[in-house]
Amino acid sequence: MQKINAKQALTKKGWEANVEISIKDGRIAGIQPSPLGSYASVGLALPAPTNLHSHSFQRAMSGLTEARGRDPSDSFWTWRRMMYAFLDQLTPDHVQAIAAQVFSEMLEAGYASVAEFHYLHHDTNGVPYANSAELCERIMAAATNVGIGLTMVPVLYQHGGLDKRPLVGGQRRFGNTPDDFAELYERAKRVVRSGPQDYNIGVAPHSLRAVDRTGLDLAIYLADGAPVHMHLAEQVAEVTEVQSALNARPVEWLMDHYNVDQNWCLIHCTQMTSFETTALARSGAVAGLCPITEANLGDGIFNAVQYLTNEGRVGFGSDSNVHISFFDELRALEYSQRLRDKSRAALAISDRSTGRVLFDVATSGGAQAAARNNGVLAQGALADIVALDLDNAWGANRSGDMALDTLVFGGNGHRCITDVWSAGRHVVQQGRHTAREKILCNYMAAMAELEQDL
Ligand SMILES: [Zn+2]
Repeated sequence: MQKINAKQALTKKGWEANVEISIKDGRIAGIQPSPLGSYASVGLALPAPTNLHSHSFQRAMSGLTEARGRDPSDSFWTWRRMMYAFLDQLTPDHVQAIAAQVFSEMLEAGYASVAEFHYLHHDTNGVPYANSAELCERIMAAATNVGIGLTMVPVLYQHGGLDKRPLVGGQRRFGNTPDDFAELYERAKRVVRSGPQDYNIGVAPHSLRAVDRTGLDLAIYLADGAPVHMHLAEQVAEVTEVQSALNARPVEWLMDHYNVDQNWCLIHCTQMTSFETTALARSGAVAGLCPITEANLGDGIFNAVQYLTNEGRVGFGSDSNVHISFFDELRALEYSQRLRDKSRAALAISDRSTGRVLFDVATSGGAQAAARNNGVLAQGALADIVALDLDNAWGANRSGDMALDTLVFGGNGHRCITDVWSAGRHVVQQGRHTAREKILCNYMAAMAELEQDL
C-alpha cells in the first residue's frame, strides 16, 4: 500500500487540506485526513488528466516545419505533405523509440494516460508487416516500458479523399480495407488485453475524408461500446470538400446519419456553425481539443464559450506533440476565446475560476473519451495523480482555484510538477521520469538516423 500525504488536494468533495491518499492495486483505496503530526510528502495533489489525442511519431517533427517552404501558400496541406515525407523513413524501432520519449514527456507534463490515435500501420512501401498489428505492438511496448496509461485507438484509413481517390506516397502506410482493418483490430485487442489492467482500446475511423459509410459502420460495429474517435471539422478546406460530396457540413452530416453519443470523441471541431455547436454539446460526445496544435497548424478557434454554456464536454490532446504541456493547452484555449471576443475570464462561471473550470472539464472529458476510470480523486478510481510543489516563485504558495489559475496562466505550471502516478505506477519523481536518461538515449539514436530536411 502506497500513501501520499498532501498539504492540499482537489478531491471529489472539492478542496481539502492535509489528506492522506492510499493506493492499492493501482487504485485509490481511500482518502482520509492525514494522521496528526505526519509529514506532507507532496504539496498539491490533483487528479492527473488523460491526453485524449496523440500521434506519437509526430513528436520527432517538432520544429521541422516552421519555415516557409518552396510552396508560397504554405498551409496545413503543405505541413501534411512534409509529415508524409518524414514518416516514410520510420522503422518499427524508430516508432517505438519516439513513442517512448513522447510518452515520458507526457508523464512529466502531468498526464497519466494517453489515447494514441494510431494510423501508421504498414511498412514504408505500404505493404503490411507479417504481423499486421506490428506497430500497435510497438506503441504498446513503448507505453508499458514508460508506464503511461494507454487507450490504444487503431485507425481505419481507406481513401485519400471523399472522391475515394487511392492513397499515394506516405499515405499508403495508413491504408486498410475494412476486412483487413477488422483483422488488425482483433490482433490489437489481444495485445492490449495482454497488457496492464488499466489499458483498453477504442476505434478510430480517421475522418470523413478517409472513410466511407461501409468503413464508418464497421468501425462502430468493432467498437462495440468502446470509444469511437474521429477527426472532424478541423479545416475550412475539409468542410468545403464534405459539403460538395455529402451536401452537408461535417458535424451536421455526422449527427444526421449516426447516433453521436457519449461513446464518441470528435477531434478538433474548430469549424462549426452556432447550430452545430449547440447540437454537438447536447449529444454527450466529447469534443477533443488540441489548442496548441490547432494554433500551430492555423486550424481556427473552437467555440468553447457557446459549447460549455450548453454543457458540452471537452477534453484535451497534444495531437502533433509539437509542444507538450497540459497547462499550456488549457491557457491556449482560454486565450483564443479572449482574443476572438475581446473578453476576459471567458470560461469562468459564477463559483469557479477559469483555471478551475478548464481543469475540471479536461479531467472529466479525458476520462470519458478514453473510457478510463480516472479524472477524480475518489475511492475506487484509478490512482492517476499529479503532485505539485507550490512553495516556489512560480507557485507562490497559492491554494484552491487560485493555485490552478497560477499554474495555467503563470506559464510555469510544468516546473511545479514533482510526481506523477499512473494507475499507481510512480513514474515521475522529483519532476523527472524515473528512466529519463535511457529513454532519451534511445530517442537520440533514432533521431540520428532520420533525415530532418523535409
Ligand atoms: Zn490528430
